Amino acid sequence: MNRSEPNLRTPGPTMLPDSVREAGARQMINHRGPAFEGMFARVAARMQPFFGTRQEVLLLTAAGTGGLEAAIVNTLSPGDRVLSVVIGVFGERFATIAETYGADVTRLTVEFGQAADPDRLAEALRAAPGWKAVLLTHNETSTGVENPIAELAATVHREAPEALVLVDGVSALGAVPFEMDAWGLDTVTTGSQKSWMVPPGMSMVALSDRAWEATSRARMPRFYLDLNRARKSGAKNQTPWTPAVGILFQLDESTELMEREGAAAIFARHRASAAAARAGLEALGFRLFADPSHASQTVTAAWLPEGLDWKTFNGALLERGLVVAGGQGDLSGRIVRLGHLGYVQPDDIVDAIGTMGQVLAGLGTHVDPAAATSAARKAADDAGARAAGKAGQA
Ligand SMILES: *Cc1c(COP(=O)(O)O)cnc(C)c1O
Repeated sequence: MNRSEPNLRTPGPTMLPDSVREAGARQMINHRGPAFEGMFARVAARMQPFFGTRQEVLLLTAAGTGGLEAAIVNTLSPGDRVLSVVIGVFGERFATIAETYGADVTRLTVEFGQAADPDRLAEALRAAPGWKAVLLTHNETSTGVENPIAELAATVHREAPEALVLVDGVSALGAVPFEMDAWGLDTVTTGSQKSWMVPPGMSMVALSDRAWEATSRARMPRFYLDLNRARKSGAKNQTPWTPAVGILFQLDESTELMEREGAAAIFARHRASAAAARAGLEALGFRLFADPSHASQTVTAAWLPEGLDWKTFNGALLERGLVVAGGQGDLSGRIVRLGHLGYVQPDDIVDAIGTMGQVLAGLGTHVDPAAATSAARKAADDAGARAAGKAGQA
């Protein structure tokens, strides 16, 4: 990494490997020609294993929010009863999209920092019949919580078998094991700037057979985000509208890097980086925000210690070239969020912990930066050893 550049540790956008940056500098090509079609086919195919699907992965030129909107408007109709499980800011956004298009949305709101509980979901589903869809967040980026998606989806299948399961997978797909088909998920959406090591600009969406069937009944308006148009063009390895060709150049490179590294190594790298973040922040005196049994592998949120002012702290971090995220909504000024997804090694997180330690010491806090970096390093090593042990058993 070039140390004259900021160390960007937000939960998206994330940093780019050098070869991905170079791929973005290529001369433009015709998006209706063979070079584009080859690239489109490679990228879509390399994504399927990370979705855990045999369905086609549609490549949309949109922010992650556009991919979430596509999932809603292509499968639902105004008046449809939708249960939205909200565990943070992004769950709230998914619910709002459905409401905007006229769905009859009921929220199951969970205390922020907690994951959704399958039993409470079952109760909410039983309380009324006729659910058309359940909206779930895989990894809630605002709180650093990973939902037990397989269990939640199984609960929906048991209690409301007709309901589609629409999943916001924007901030962890590509970084953690995920099985769309085996878990019976109907739509899954992700975004280019999170785990995929490319800039913002594209959203990837896959639909189950059930979801594709639902598109023929769905009456919410759509044009740009009409997924049947995307599917029809996708069959020719094209897109209906002019896509973000430059991001596709970069995805062609980044997904090749991912294929070469292998999913198991990528997942182990994220587990080790997450372990380093949690141990390091705790050693610096931060209390972790998320329920530890559902801690995210891609972003860690922590309460700012009593008396630490966010603006002062963040300003000092920025002066040292470290860019992290603050809290969103009601959590603004109260928590810090450290991203560890995409192009990240445990060492990058140990570095970030070291920088935070120096800043805290500089602000007169009684912390030991060296002890915090060793705690982070040890946690990463232990997580790495566990991952290797697991691989050895497989
Ligand atoms: C980042 C994110 C989004 C939104 O992505 P945009 O590209 O900013 O629209 C949605 N959901 C989750 C969980 C996210 O982390």
